[in-house]
Amino acid sequence: MSNIPPCPQCTLENTYQDGSNYVCADCGYEWPMNEVAEAEEGRQVKDANGNLLQDGDSVVLIKDLKVKGSSITLKQGTKIKSIRIVDGDHEVDCRTDAGQMMLKACFLKKV
Ligand SMILES: [Zn+2]
Repeated sequence: MSNIPPCPQCTLENTYQDGSNYVCADCGYEWPMNEVAEAEEGRQVKDANGNLLQDGDSVVLIKDLKVKGSSITLKQGTKIKSIRIVDGDHEVDCRTDAGQMMLKACFLKKV
């Protein structure tokens, strides 16, 4: 047996295959084999050019973005370092000169 992923619940690797499920011997968590692959696929976040974004990437803004609920505008060409990919509508969590922001990946370009 090979390539059995670690438990998504407790992250231990004491896992085994049972039919079409994986089972964790430590915490008893069971999860379907194919659902894991789909979940990983769904986490892919792409920039304006279709390049995959990952935690720690640096990006630039491709357009001016007005920050909701403030008078701040992030200027096109602003460089942002060490982004973090998160779930949700605004996929990119990052720190800018104006503070912590959640941005949409479609307004960013990887550098
Ligand atoms: Zn477990």
